[in-house]
Amino acid sequence: MHFETKAVHAGGESDETTGAIVPPIHLSTTFERNPADGQPLHGFSYVRDHNPTQARLEEALAEIESAEAALAFGSGMAAASAIFQALPPGSHVILPEDGYYGVRILANDYFPRWGLSCTFVDMDGDARSLLAIVKKNIAAIWCESPSNPLLKIVDIAALAAMAHEAGAIVIADGTFASPALQRPIELGADITLQSTTKYLGGHSDVQGGSRAFRRRDDLYARAEHVREIIGGVGSPFNSWLVLRGIRTLAPRMRVHCENARAIAEFLAGHPRVERVHYPGLASHPGHAIARRQMSDFGGMMSVQIKGGRQEALAVAAKTRVFTRATSLGGTESLIEHRASSEGAASRTPQNLLRISVGLEHKQDLIDDLAQALK
Ligand SMILES: *Cc1c(COP(=O)(O)O)cnc(C)c1O
Repeated sequence: MHFETKAVHAGGESDETTGAIVPPIHLSTTFERNPADGQPLHGFSYVRDHNPTQARLEEALAEIESAEAALAFGSGMAAASAIFQALPPGSHVILPEDGYYGVRILANDYFPRWGLSCTFVDMDGDARSLLAIVKKNIAAIWCESPSNPLLKIVDIAALAAMAHEAGAIVIADGTFASPALQRPIELGADITLQSTTKYLGGHSDVQGGSRAFRRRDDLYARAEHVREIIGGVGSPFNSWLVLRGIRTLAPRMRVHCENARAIAEFLAGHPRVERVHYPGLASHPGHAIARRQMSDFGGMMSVQIKGGRQEALAVAAKTRVFTRATSLGGTESLIEHRASSEGAASRTPQNLLRISVGLEHKQDLIDDLAQALK
């Protein structure tokens, strides 16, 4: 079946007791046990272990990621942490130079406590620069494509082939693309991450994270154990909202992409713009790889304004349709001075604005940016 069909139906079987078409939200924290043997009557015991609404979401997440199994978490960062905590102490991890700043902070502040070490590597293109490093004893290579905030593209298939030869697994953060546009497991990755707070939720009203696993293997079991014991589970209500978001993911992504393409072209031709980072532009260094591994180029881009911090902030200050805010993947367009959001640990250029293109009419968005750039 096609992605659109899976996204509409996965985890959506009618409720057995009422026939309701829309899944019920089970808020119960505890579940009845069998008087004869003390075991759970329907497989559920306590909400932190498993719950029926989250189980439906996980079924859908696995299906849309072409994975054997998936785990839902309370946030993208809870999902990220769980996989690192599931690695044996002493493991070495490769992380991308350009990537979500929360993962960089996680590595710096918590890896030492968990007995992990890491190397940050520039992961552009086919990641050939990794070849020398992967020969060493590496447990996992974490990649993010497109990356945040510079929209760098990694050749996930090439990376996976290289990693597997060296006995390492590949973990891919595909949040910027969403599984509607890119499915890293089909490309050879072992595990994917989605911050479901973004495109899967899709309406800026729910936080969540997802991990999908190529195989229901040991690492899956260990990550599930981490979730249960460390406690980064999603709530039943949030699981339900993410599941609801998945239903419209494919058509929403089509509009995000169409609008973003028009805006990227407009910005690329504007005299006040120094550089546009959008993989859909033929001038983007990762364009050819993105064309191969993504079905479209997504709704995220960054733009560097000629001048510096003040000039970039002034442009963001003048937008009326775009709201100045962090995060991404909602229906509304957002513009963000990324270095300000990232704070002291930021390595993002001061003249960079990150844009999450929403579902408004593209002409209104272009008109708004045009007047802000005047
Ligand atoms: C937002 C984001 C995360 C973290 O997800 P949260 O839901 O905020 O914890 C991780 N990776 C990327 C690429 C993100 O955009």
